[in-house]
Amino acid sequence: MINKSLFLTIFLIGFIVTAQKKLPKNKILIEKSVENHRSDLIDISDGIWANAETAFEENESSKLLADYAEKNGFKVERGVAGIPTAFVATYGSGKPVIGILGEFDALPGISQKASPIKESLKEGAAGHGCGHNLFGTASLAAAIAIKELMDQGKIQGTIKFFGTPSEEKYFGKIWMVREGLWNDVDVNISWHPSAEIKADTQSSLALIDFKVEFFGQAAHASADPWNGRSAADALELYTTGINYYREHVKPTVRMHYHIQDGGQVVNVVPDYARLWVRVRDTKRSGLMPVYDRVMAMAEGAAIMANVDFKISLISGIYELLVNRAGEEVMQKNLELLGEIKYTDEEIAFGKKIQEATGKKQVGMDSKIKPLEETREHPGGGSTDVGDVSWNVPNINLGVTTAPKGTPWHSWAVVACGGMSIGHKGMLYASNAMAMTMLDLFKNPKLVQSIKDEYIERKGDEVYKAIVPDGPPPIPTK
Ligand SMILES: [Zn+2]
Repeated sequence: MINKSLFLTIFLIGFIVTAQKKLPKNKILIEKSVENHRSDLIDISDGIWANAETAFEENESSKLLADYAEKNGFKVERGVAGIPTAFVATYGSGKPVIGILGEFDALPGISQKASPIKESLKEGAAGHGCGHNLFGTASLAAAIAIKELMDQGKIQGTIKFFGTPSEEKYFGKIWMVREGLWNDVDVNISWHPSAEIKADTQSSLALIDFKVEFFGQAAHASADPWNGRSAADALELYTTGINYYREHVKPTVRMHYHIQDGGQVVNVVPDYARLWVRVRDTKRSGLMPVYDRVMAMAEGAAIMANVDFKISLISGIYELLVNRAGEEVMQKNLELLGEIKYTDEEIAFGKKIQEATGKKQVGMDSKIKPLEETREHPGGGSTDVGDVSWNVPNINLGVTTAPKGTPWHSWAVVACGGMSIGHKGMLYASNAMAMTMLDLFKNPKLVQSIKDEYIERKGDEVYKAIVPDGPPPIPTK
């Protein structure tokens, strides 16, 4: 009797455990692959996090990822599209071709330790305030898990990992798209660190960046100011014009400017001034008239200050093209994986971050969000994943890597990305993306339905990269 009931108990426990984890065999293999690489992945992510390299100068970060791809058997092409830190890592052959994006650039000036109070790791240095150290590493791990399934004969086709630099400034993917790097890709996968877990059914904002320069005449600010024509006057008049214009644009429009040069000293009438201007809207169609108007204001300001002016396009990005058929596949995998479990220490860390940033101390949000309706005019930011999504169907994911309410692009995101909260989100994203890719490799009909929706949403719009002719703006030393 005792033996029988013991046997029954063991059987029941076994049943409950299996019942909780209804993962199919190949998805268990994915989890094993991610687990096998775990310590390497954390080292790579932490390496990128500590290096915190910015805009087209992500030499060490790019190398960490490209080297690991190569070590795992991928064919790596470095320096693609004229960008030294961009690369494509390919494995397998034939159809389908599934792509996955990996970003790795940081933001200037927000260096931070992996600590829940604000303290810089290196004063004045950059920091991963958007979690791109996790982004690139998680995506590479997913690509490797797929490669290992190919090696075991479970699936056939091609997996391409795209190492995509400078998302935060210049939007590096535009030049990679212009180069045609996604031309043979059937479906592309992407994710982004977040404060919640969800298959992403919302678009992003289209934007255009341009530079405005004013050229005047220098003179002594007190002895002979009548000989001067002030470029800084034009700059002030220009920004005043933009600020008045704010009242007369649609609520979906955003306008920003960054004053880069307004003169050097107080006793000289400045002969040079420069701003970086950005206009955004939820759709490119709404953006263009705003762009034209804000450009035209530069001439008005130049006339008033009696100076010359010059406008140069920097780059512009498209709004994200959502693919609900693809997101449904992702959603099923999130539900299979379930919530992320946090330790008491991690929850306490999250609450300290919330305390330090004036947020409600509610800890982590690890629930799987239901698939949302796609809004016509979403809020939020912009991403150069948008440009990829106008060239190939794209599936996007958000995974918790920071506590609820965390101010993004801030020290608080940097802090979480360098410790276990970030690592957990990263490994979770790897699993969710690899499992979604597995479904695509296994099911050609699914791939076709994703492509059909993409073609329908794109309509007769013809994509054209919004960049000046010539090479990408790689910084020269
Ligand atoms: Zn980002």
